[in-house]
Amino acid sequence: MQGKLYIVATPIGNLEDITLRAIKILKEVDLIAAEDTRHTLKLLNHLEISKPMISCHRHNEEEKIDKIIDKLKEGKNIAIVSDAGTPGISDPGEVIIKNAIKENIEVIPVPGACAAINALIASGIDTKEFTFLGFLPLNKKLRKNKLEEIKNSNKTIILYEAPHKILSTINDLEHILENRQVVLARELTKIHEEFIRGKLSEVKEKLINPKGEFVIIIEGIKTVESEKNNLNLLTVEEHYNYYLKQGYEKKEIIKLIAKDRNVNKNEIYIKFINKEN
Ligand code: SAM
Repeated sequence: MQGKLYIVATPIGNLEDITLRAIKILKEVDLIAAEDTRHTLKLLNHLEISKPMISCHRHNEEEKIDKIIDKLKEGKNIAIVSDAGTPGISDPGEVIIKNAIKENIEVIPVPGACAAINALIASGIDTKEFTFLGFLPLNKKLRKNKLEEIKNSNKTIILYEAPHKILSTINDLEHILENRQVVLARELTKIHEEFIRGKLSEVKEKLINPKGEFVIIIEGIKTVESEKNNLNLLTVEEHYNYYLKQGYEKKEIIKLIAKDRNVNKNEIYIKFINKEN
């Protein structure tokens, strides 16, 4: 019989944030695949668990897959853990999990801490709909595209950021989102846990010599603003038809389009000079 693959969440700071079930699974499995075995050893020592480990991190996940899948096929039960929080969430795990599923191996989540969700629930920003984007790309073009996506989203956005990059990321966000409401959740579950709430400019002022780990929660744009931004993604022709369907006259439509797009109305007028209405 094949073994099972358990995805076990571990604490993101406070060592008490591990479930009774996670402890039981870590005690029972044959092997633990850990992002950093030295890091996980500290947790296992704290829980008084002694277990063989295999290292499986971002740079070797692909190489370790065959070994882990073979062991699962031999009938060994394996737990994947990352350094902190939920494996697969901006952490290794995803590749092994996908491969295990392809091999019809049972994959079992063992829930627990996740910085994104805990930052969100205490942020006070809408939780009904949200988008988790992990870390912003460093590549300039990809980063710009992501920032545009954030600008146009009417859903709450969740970002992760490393401590030494938090200031430059807040600057980039301020540049594109101007004064949007954000919450920085710092050092969750740890002694210096803190929530910094406010407009981007206010939050930036409070970030002197930032230390620790951060999650950034960004309020989505309000519906009217969001609709306006979506209209600006249309061609001018489609934009025109949108207002036409709403019953506006040609003259009014031209004015509205110019306002939405922040351009001179003559620019729009020339495009529709021969249009009847
Ligand atoms: N898998 C983890 C999870 O479930 O949250 C996330 C791992 S990711 C490599 C690390 C990032 O998560 C950090 O840079 C930070 O943005 C966020 N993070 C992790 N622990 C945190 C904490 N205690 N407080 C605030 N942010 C944290």
